[in-house]
Order: sequence, then C-alpha cells, then structure tokens
Amino acid sequence: MLDAERVVRLDAHVDEPGLTSMSFDRFASAALVVAHPDDEALWFSSVVGRVKRVIIAYEACDALPGLGQARHAASEAYPLASALFLRRPEPCSLWHVDWANPQSTDYGMALNQPEAEARYRDAYAGLVDELGSLLGGISDVFTHNPWGEYGHPDHVQVSRVVTTLGKRLGFRTHFSNYVAPRSMRFASNFILELKKSVALESDHTLADRLKGVYVEHGCWTWHADYTPPETEAFLVHAEHAPTEADSVPLNCLMTT
Ligand SMILES: [Zn+2]
Repeated sequence: MLDAERVVRLDAHVDEPGLTSMSFDRFASAALVVAHPDDEALWFSSVVGRVKRVIIAYEACDALPGLGQARHAASEAYPLASALFLRRPEPCSLWHVDWANPQSTDYGMALNQPEAEARYRDAYAGLVDELGSLLGGISDVFTHNPWGEYGHPDHVQVSRVVTTLGKRLGFRTHFSNYVAPRSMRFASNFILELKKSVALESDHTLADRLKGVYVEHGCWTWHADYTPPETEAFLVHAEHAPTEADSVPLNCLMTT
C-alpha cells in the first residue's frame, strides 16, 4: 500500500462513529469554564491546552482554611497564559447534598443546610454576572456536566450557569462525560437530553504538568495516583429524543 493510501484509510477509520475523533475545529473561539482550580486538569485535560480561554471560578473556601492562599499561589505559578482565575469565594457546598434524593434547582441543586444554601445561591448570581461579560463572542464552552461529574454541587452550579448563559449569548455548551456511583441517579435526569459532540484524547503530559503545580502548592484535591482515562467525550443537548439506536460514552469515576 502507498503511504498516501494508508493515510486516507486511517483517516476514514478515525471518522467512524464511536471512535476517537479529533474533528473539533473551533478551539480558537472556545472557552473552558470550571469551578475549582484543578478541575481543568482532572476532567478536561483533552481541551485545557487548546481553548482560547480557561476560566476558573473559585478560590477560598471558608470550611477549608489555607486552601485559598494555596490556590492563589498556584495560580501565580500557572503555566497557561490562557487561564483567568476569577478568585470568587467557593460556596463550600460539597457536604450538604442528599445524594439519595438529589433535587435540581434554578441555581444548581438543593442543599440541606440553610447557610450553605444561601452561599450557594449568592455564588450562582455572582457567577452569572461575571461570566456573562466574559463569554461574549465565544462560540463553544466546555464545562462541568449537569450532575457534577462525581457529584459536586459546585460543578452542578457552574454547569447550570453556563447553560443559562449559552441560551442568552448563543454559544454551544459541551458537558464533560464523567460520572460516578454517587451521581448516577441524578445523572439519569439529564442524560436522555444529551448526545456526543466529540471525543478527544486526554493530554496526560499537560495534566501531569498542571497537577504538579497544584501538588507543589498543597492544593491538589483529588487522589494522588489518579490519571485521566485515554479519551474524554463531550456531550451537547440533543435536538431530538434518543432511541435505542443511540448511545452516549461516559467515563466512570469510583466516588460513592
Ligand atoms: Zn471541582
């Protein structure tokens, strides 16, 4: 076989449905929006080094003394010029969800502790305002999925903010495809409305580099031995209800 023929046949193979496709061609006008510093390395390594703008929302969390200073220091050593740290106060919502009975709300999901609920509502309003002025002119936004990957209400909230702004500003929202046993019940409320937009190879080199910055500054918040799976798929809202002919790729984490 001639080399040229081999290249054509490999390209055709890559375009088959369900296989990794590198066909996303709007990175130059795309943004990534995440809740916490390190989410971009954990759940978005396939896109974090390619988008025009990386926006990281939260910094200090009152429930975790010292985390804000550590994140601030990490942000000053951050290697990507595309990154914008909003330094907003984290709602500290993680411990206040009934995952046996998760409830969706206009600002994310219901919390079962009044002070946390108040912080969480305020965080939603502030983020809508700030992101609304930052995402003008953006064609596509990659962000957390509506069930918050492994089940983090801050991720759920950021997903809701971006979805709301997408309708207002006209950009397309691409959700991550991570899920976990903790969030599966909640995910089932949303998944019928989604379809795959693109699957991309994880960038393990960049993920390791970003992780190194957070580890060095004491603010890596996930398991020390975690490495991303080989591919990350992204999901968009489907125009039509699915049939049993359809499938959606998911990456399952082991959070219970
Ligand atoms: Zn996070």
